[in-house]
Amino acid sequence: MDECSDLLKTYNDVYEQQAVLKHIIFSTIQLTDPEALAIYFSDQIKEKMNNVKNGIWLVNKNKVVEVVYNGKQVEYKDRKSFKINSSEVFLKVIKEQTIVWLSNYPEFKNFMPEFKSAVLLPLKSNESVIGFLIIDGYREQDIETCQFIAQYIAIMINISMLHNKVENQAKELSDMNQIFLIQNMQLSTLYHIGLTMMRMSDPISIYTEVVRTVTKDLGATSAISFALDINSRELTKVSNSENFEGLNNFIIPIDEIDVIKKAVESGRIVSYKSYSTVIRFKGIEMVRWFIYPIKGQKDIIGLLIVELDNMDVSDAIAIVVNQTGIVLDNLMILQEVKRLNIFLEEARTKLEELSITDELTGLYNHRYFQEKFKIEFYNYKDSNNFSTLILIDLDRFKSVNDKYGHAAGDKVLKEISERIRDRMRKSDIAARYGGEEIALLLKDTNLNGAKIMAERLRAAIYEKPVIFNEFTIQVSASFGIGVFPNENISAPIDLFKKVDEALYRAKKNGRNRVEEAG
Ligand code: GH3
Ligand code: MG
Ligand code: MG
Repeated sequence: MDECSDLLKTYNDVYEQQAVLKHIIFSTIQLTDPEALAIYFSDQIKEKMNNVKNGIWLVNKNKVVEVVYNGKQVEYKDRKSFKINSSEVFLKVIKEQTIVWLSNYPEFKNFMPEFKSAVLLPLKSNESVIGFLIIDGYREQDIETCQFIAQYIAIMINISMLHNKVENQAKELSDMNQIFLIQNMQLSTLYHIGLTMMRMSDPISIYTEVVRTVTKDLGATSAISFALDINSRELTKVSNSENFEGLNNFIIPIDEIDVIKKAVESGRIVSYKSYSTVIRFKGIEMVRWFIYPIKGQKDIIGLLIVELDNMDVSDAIAIVVNQTGIVLDNLMILQEVKRLNIFLEEARTKLEELSITDELTGLYNHRYFQEKFKIEFYNYKDSNNFSTLILIDLDRFKSVNDKYGHAAGDKVLKEISERIRDRMRKSDIAARYGGEEIALLLKDTNLNGAKIMAERLRAAIYEKPVIFNEFTIQVSASFGIGVFPNENISAPIDLFKKVDEALYRAKKNGRNRVEEAG
């Protein structure tokens, strides 16, 4: 008799547990804010599981922060927050991803006095833990249910965070797009090619897996999965069970079969029980059919049609289909995030390069040089190492323009810049400093080294004329050089002045020569 009542009790427990789970998981959740999700689930646990006191804490950087207590959002100012490494309990639940029974940690009472014999359940998502669910006043059988709910919470929060990330990135991308449109780059075209390609990639294996699971694991007689294109209102067959041997890929419009249309438009499970029709298409006939919409966060993304002899599994199939929707959605979002990240990274690098480069010569621009030079100047201020500033001004450049035209002048500037750049070390910086003036910063170079370098550059400019169309243009340049640190020079501007004076002397002393700052 005892045994029998035990069994009955177990049966009741399991039944109750399933009812709770079903209710929580079947509710359509369309929240995109992690906190709103936490509140929703916490409230559900309070409602559906008598006496279970609960709270949800989320990881924020190296801390865990209280977000919800018994279905109510905790006000920001009242939130408790602790460093993860401030207690072994947090380390265990977050880092080791294990359940923690607080009864094993009496000293922990100081952290959360309101929870007496609580259990902490990790919210695991993609290998890492994003927080924990804490429950108190539970019965033993509640723990398993709560573990399942914790997993579900983690998945949903993860999806919602990814959604937000995608939305933010899409916005950032479209802002950048504006800038690039001005630069005449068709980023938006690339964006759409990327999207189309993304649709071609891997969800197929998930659609295949759901068919396999419902037939092999849950005992459905047959199954077919479809991806749905809601814009064209078409279903594409992705996978089918083995008994539909030789079934080719095909597309059917959702409007062609009335019950399919019903399932898609209502978002609900539709079955032969309410519609006494037989489903027929492409030589297939299904009598005891169920149509399950596969739901993503926002839309219906696919359909699973199964034929069942054993009705008992229909709820289990619904859960599997629900999970399939989440995974597919998650996968699509992940791909989207990855793709956007790559775009963003490229866009950022491009913008950065554009903002520091001189267009004509490809050398750095004035602003960038000033910045770098200042940093270098103050870095070296008290050092025993020397660095050098060189200012170069092309000689009688006005007459190049006058004689050969402005385009020729541009070509000269470009080619001379190239010759200089080719002779620089990686650590040196060359910038177009003015119209036909170039500034160089040679790191770890003393006066001797700088003179040799300047002479080499002077020769490189002078000894080979620039060819432009039919013209052979003889060019030369004058150089001023100065090293730092120098005890008489306390600010970058003073060094520039000195080097400029040296350059002026080079001009006065006949041009095509190097002079050092006095
Ligand atoms: P010097 O420096 O030897 O005293 O004579 P200069 O003729 O080079 O001196 P000045 O500074 O008077 O003239 C500089 C000229 O450089 C004036 C301008 O027409 C030319 N210039 C400046 N920027 C550019 C450019 O981007 N392209 C071309 N083609 N010419 C430029
Ligand atoms: Mg000049
Ligand atoms: Mg000049």
